[in-house]
Amino acid sequence: MPSVVISGAGAAGLAAAWWLARAGWRVTVVERAPDLRTGGYMMSLSGPGHAAATRMGLVPKLEPLAYTVKENVYRDRRGREVLRLRFHDIVEGLDYLVMRRTDLIAALRADLPDSVDIRLATTIADVEDGVDGAHVRLSDGSALDADLILLADGMRSALRSRLFAPDAACLKPLGYRFAVYELKDRLGLGSDFVSYAEPGHIAEYYTLAEGRVAALHVWHSRQTGPVPAAERWRLLDEVCARSHPAVHAQLAAAREDGAVPLVDDLALVDMPRWSKGRVLLLGDAAHCLTLISGQGAGMALTSAAILADALGRAAVPEALAEHEARLRPSIARLQDRSRKMAGMFVPRSPVAFELRNLFMRHVPRKWIGRYFVNAVNAEILAAKGG
Ligand SMILES: Cc1cc2nc3c(=O)[nH]c(=O)nc-3n(C[C@H](O)[C@H](O)[C@H](O)COP(=O)(O)OP(=O)(O)OC[C@H]3O[C@@H](n4cnc5c(N)ncnc54)[C@H](O)[C@@H]3O)c2cc1C
Repeated sequence: MPSVVISGAGAAGLAAAWWLARAGWRVTVVERAPDLRTGGYMMSLSGPGHAAATRMGLVPKLEPLAYTVKENVYRDRRGREVLRLRFHDIVEGLDYLVMRRTDLIAALRADLPDSVDIRLATTIADVEDGVDGAHVRLSDGSALDADLILLADGMRSALRSRLFAPDAACLKPLGYRFAVYELKDRLGLGSDFVSYAEPGHIAEYYTLAEGRVAALHVWHSRQTGPVPAAERWRLLDEVCARSHPAVHAQLAAAREDGAVPLVDDLALVDMPRWSKGRVLLLGDAAHCLTLISGQGAGMALTSAAILADALGRAAVPEALAEHEARLRPSIARLQDRSRKMAGMFVPRSPVAFELRNLFMRHVPRKWIGRYFVNAVNAEILAAKGG
């Protein structure tokens, strides 16, 4: 029985575990966190990601967990409405689901066969790759032989920097940072988003189940790199110094609730090769796309399905080469979209901010919808090899 060790129990790692366990592989997943409940931000699954979830039979399990989004109302620093976008106009005709990352991860985990060995609070300590197989030492002291090792441990994969290249060579920051956190709902938005937008910064809020609200900030930043937990609220205070009072109220309320924001760079992961011997980078560890293009979780599901198909036809080295050849063109297009769209999502200067708002107010909604839907449909065709 072939065996695989997967580092990281996010969308990429769990989807790969699902496919390979069903194909008869012995699967061990190691996850650094003590549980899988982190990162409850809102995300949408459409295009190839929705198609991959459909192939996995996941969609009926995700639908009851999905949210309805009606409108995103953009307000400026003074609370004046500057824009109003109906979600329906943008995704018209597409299959999509809007859900929390936590719910996607829980659904993927619940669907894994019992044979999958998941080890929480565990990491890969060392990898020795040889001609006949790899030897993996885990932080819990155990050792495993493996035919394949998947590094699905996210944008800041520690093993990638040890086995492939340092972060400085792989991470390409877009000049923005983001923060996400949850708090008790004091806004009463129903099914609408509200966004407070200003030059160089946007704060978005959306109602979750059980009386909670998800908050997202994206801001222009020259600084890069991880921000220690103790400094994150101070940083957000600085970022929001000139924001609408409602933003300050939400920051204060979240602190009072004891939330800890997740803060990171909006950075692409750009690797010349995704595999080395029997080790393959998967998901954000290989090709983080950022929230600007979206589709990161969707492409993680797609990538796992492509890998399983390739491994069903060929030996490990050929299958890894085929997986990369099939996925790369879509990743290149999505990363290009992230680079181009970041300034449109958060214009940096007051002039760019006014121009963006003017453009978005006057451009026919059908055009925005068509741009988005065509881009997503192109990726569906590409994933099918069409
Ligand atoms: C705010 C926001 C909004 C987004 N919106 C969308 C969207 O609308 N649609 C979409 O498709 N995508 C979206 N994305 C992107 C999407 O969330 C990611 O692309 C996707 O989650 C990547 O999955 P992954 O499994 O590759 O990595 P991750 O989700 O980062 O999972 C990596 C896992 O590895 C674990 N880990 C880390 N280090 C180690 C280690 N050394 N050993 C073992 N385990 C380790 C981590 O704890 C984690 O569980 C969004 C992202 C953000 C931040």
